[in-house]
Amino acid sequence: VRLFVEQPLGAVQPVPLTREQAHYLFGVMRMAVGDAVALFNGRDGEWQADVAEAGKRGGILVCREQSQPQVMPPDVWLLFAPIKKARTDFIVEKAVEMGVRRIVPVQTAHTNSERIRQDRLQAHAVEAAEQCGGVFVPEVAELTKLDRLLNTWDTARQIAFCDEALAGETGRLPAAPGPWAILIGPEGGFSEDERKRLRGMDHATPISLGPRILRADTAAVAALTLWQSTLGD
Ligand code: SAM
Repeated sequence: VRLFVEQPLGAVQPVPLTREQAHYLFGVMRMAVGDAVALFNGRDGEWQADVAEAGKRGGILVCREQSQPQVMPPDVWLLFAPIKKARTDFIVEKAVEMGVRRIVPVQTAHTNSERIRQDRLQAHAVEAAEQCGGVFVPEVAELTKLDRLLNTWDTARQIAFCDEALAGETGRLPAAPGPWAILIGPEGGFSEDERKRLRGMDHATPISLGPRILRADTAAVAALTLWQSTLGD
């Protein structure tokens, strides 16, 4: 069992459990005193810990040894326009599995949802990190208007602008090192104004993901895979 906790991890501090964590470990997973749990907090790597106290409303874990050092994923962000709930959850989950530094939901001209449940998406990111063995949990940023994001963009970070209008044409990801962001549009695609603006930016490269129109969730996974194979480590 792997568990994300907020507390610092190390050989000296015991780790008290919240009611929910105790319920999960002792109620759902049927663990008991002496059982081993892998812990991570996004800062101190992964630690193997043993259950020292187990109760209905809480418990205590004691770290034994570090099993993974803290590592950061490659410096790529995923920018995407939120779609239906389950598909948005899928995008967040896959982005964590593939390894991104930050997840930024963006509101574009054709984005359906005006708001997101940031806390829910962040909880999904934690669950995905627990499941995939990662020690880093990317922050899920608040929903930001694409225009606003581009107005204040740090030009040192290149944007791989996944443009469905390119489908089948050129549009390859350049093997340029440095920080990157992948931008995926909504089900309705990008507006002509957005496309024009992005195509006019020196630090944005239009990317094709092949000759067919992919759903936004498929496009996110395809683009991250492409980035991994070209620039990832
Ligand atoms: N409604 C749009 C249309 O029919 O042209 C399709 C939008 S697509 C469902 C959602 C997003 O996935 C697009 O905005 C784009 O970012 C990405 N995408 C899908 N297929 C793509 C492709 N072949 N090349 C590049 N990006 C693609």
